[in-house]
Amino acid sequence: MNIHEYQAKELLRLYKVATPDGKVAQDAEEARMITKEYGGASVVKAQIHAGGRGKGGGVKFANDPDKAAELFKAIFGMQLITKQTGAEGRKVHTVFISKPIDIARELYLSFLVDRGSSRVTILASTEGGVEIEEVAEKTPEKIFKVAVDPALGLCGFQARQVAFALGLEGDTFKQAVVFLQNLYKLFIDKDCSMVEINPLVITKAGDVTALDAKIGFDDNALFRHPDVLAFRDLNEEAEEEIAASKFNLNFIKLDGQIGCMVNGAGLAMGTMDIIKYHGGSPANFLDVGGGATEDAVKNAFRIILQDPAVKAVLVNIFGGIMRCDVVAAGIVNAAKEIGIQVPVVVRLEGTNVEEGKKILADSGLNLIVAADLKDAAMKVVASIK
Ligand code: GDP
Ligand code: MG
Repeated sequence: MNIHEYQAKELLRLYKVATPDGKVAQDAEEARMITKEYGGASVVKAQIHAGGRGKGGGVKFANDPDKAAELFKAIFGMQLITKQTGAEGRKVHTVFISKPIDIARELYLSFLVDRGSSRVTILASTEGGVEIEEVAEKTPEKIFKVAVDPALGLCGFQARQVAFALGLEGDTFKQAVVFLQNLYKLFIDKDCSMVEINPLVITKAGDVTALDAKIGFDDNALFRHPDVLAFRDLNEEAEEEIAASKFNLNFIKLDGQIGCMVNGAGLAMGTMDIIKYHGGSPANFLDVGGGATEDAVKNAFRIILQDPAVKAVLVNIFGGIMRCDVVAAGIVNAAKEIGIQVPVVVRLEGTNVEEGKKILADSGLNLIVAADLKDAAMKVVASIK
């Protein structure tokens, strides 16, 4: 789960990680009042779960309270398009007013879980403010990396190594060490999967502060963090994903045209690959789970069929724990309930496959039955050409 910058900054404050003052404004008048309170200037920032807001026009400076009110009106409700949102952009539902900071240097800092080393890893770079992917590609030597031993936690010497790599000295250096240690504590306490501070700013006065903050959490640990769950913003999640999460389906919306209903994450990945291989593109990733019930199948199928981007559906089920007849019944019931307007290719294999195929054949529905996975992929791609 991801959260907004303003929420991430609330957590930073809770852990005594320095970040500029800021408040959410509900309306233009409030944006004006907050700006007044900050001495007559502010930064007006769109809150969406995507980076690159600055370049996309979602981060603007107000030199007086009236300007802040005007910027609020322009940004609130706008469809913000950034490098990370895709072409359709994201609607801005929340606007954050931040106290302006005099920037001397913009640095980069992130904590993430490195699956390779199974450790929380800190990435730091003097090249902040820009996309780190670009730095990684062009000047990888400018990214400093340190892995934290889970038993020891972030050691003092490691925090100092990072601060040193960032070229800091004196009191700024000391502040950075405390900043890193507190941020690490937050990361562990809240079961984060990623924290990115870009830019980490050194102010003209030599202070260290998080000008931007992005935090992602491990979904599997959310049950023990009701405070974090309260930050969930359904506006930022695809409608289909919200519906799927209600039925415990692993569903991720993608931008292709072929809806996929598969059991097992590995098979789902394989199915997406083979669709691509045959020239199509998947509209979603969906794992209905190994032991899904008829109801789960029905709900999954409904979610896929209701997506207007879906031009054809590929059902690929291997009946191991799950029985093919149960899947077939779920498909037939969902199809009868909502009707099918697009071609549906079905490939079933495994336990009770004959019973399953019979249910499909007897349903009177116009389903395309495939002999194997390759045949299924070719048929579904052909069906929309
Ligand atoms: P992002 O574009 O979504 O990553 O949004 P950021 O919060 O990182 O803001 C983008 C850029 O705006 C930063 O890299 C800064 O250069 C600039 N910026 C944001 N807030 C301030 C501020 O208080 N003072 C100054 N001088 N620049 C700011
Ligand atoms: Mg940023």
